[in-house]
Amino acid sequence: MEMPTMQTTPSTQIVNIGGYDIGGSNFTVMAGPCSIESYEQFMETAKGVKASGAHILRGGIWKMRTSSKDFQGLGKNSFDFIKAVCKETNMKLVSEVTDARQIEEVYDIVECFQVGSRNMHNYALLKELGMQRKPVLLKRGFAALITEWIKAAEYVTVGGNPNVILCERGIRTFETSTRNTLDLNAVAFAKKNSHLPVIVDPSHAVGIRALVPDLAYAAAAVGADGIIVEVHPRPAEALSDGMQALTLDDFKNMMMKLDKILTAIDRPLHKVAPHAN
Ligand code: PEP
Ligand code: MN
Repeated sequence: MEMPTMQTTPSTQIVNIGGYDIGGSNFTVMAGPCSIESYEQFMETAKGVKASGAHILRGGIWKMRTSSKDFQGLGKNSFDFIKAVCKETNMKLVSEVTDARQIEEVYDIVECFQVGSRNMHNYALLKELGMQRKPVLLKRGFAALITEWIKAAEYVTVGGNPNVILCERGIRTFETSTRNTLDLNAVAFAKKNSHLPVIVDPSHAVGIRALVPDLAYAAAAVGADGIIVEVHPRPAEALSDGMQALTLDDFKNMMMKLDKILTAIDRPLHKVAPHAN
């Protein structure tokens, strides 16, 4: 097997987002809707996940949908209210850029640029992100080798931006009962064979709401540095990925159990920063 070329010290790169160190001794939870759909939906979700212990907000501004007829995200129309939600909840946002031109457009509202699974091989985008100072969350391509994923991260780090977080989000296998297959091997492997923090996205990995918490617990147990989870106040109304969205109550229950597991393995959740006002 070809081994990655990166240095082999476990998580020596700590990535800071909004005061939370990712890859250090504490576990980080990023949560929010798949897509940012309206001021009301985003604010309600942000306040709810924060109250249950989430550290960083997630939410798509531009969506990479399999069908061009599906909701593509609010884009520019959401910028003003996103600022208001982040300010009021005192939370930083991780959000996907699907095109290098978007980096500048959202520079003052997005604290961490997500590269989606479908764009892991978009080396032009990765090079551009290598020239930025803000952190990058690099999803694994759904059919990418672990080594290809780690090498994709190098496009950002060699460009001069050391702040990359690897994110395992499930791979396509022969299995069809679940949306994807969460590759816990990849998490363990990447933790040992790259110096970058590694988090898990249990939502896209399994695609079924009722199973998302179990995979979040597995992520904690295997040694991930955090999770990124989809939450929607009313999943039946979600414009994307409603099937896998936790309700605010589901999220709260998951966080209580996750807290116990993390305490038992000596990897406690970060303390949550207070609201700005
Ligand atoms: C997302 O985070 O909503 C998303 C589209 O993820 P992925 O790129 O992993 O499919
Ligand atoms: Mn999604």
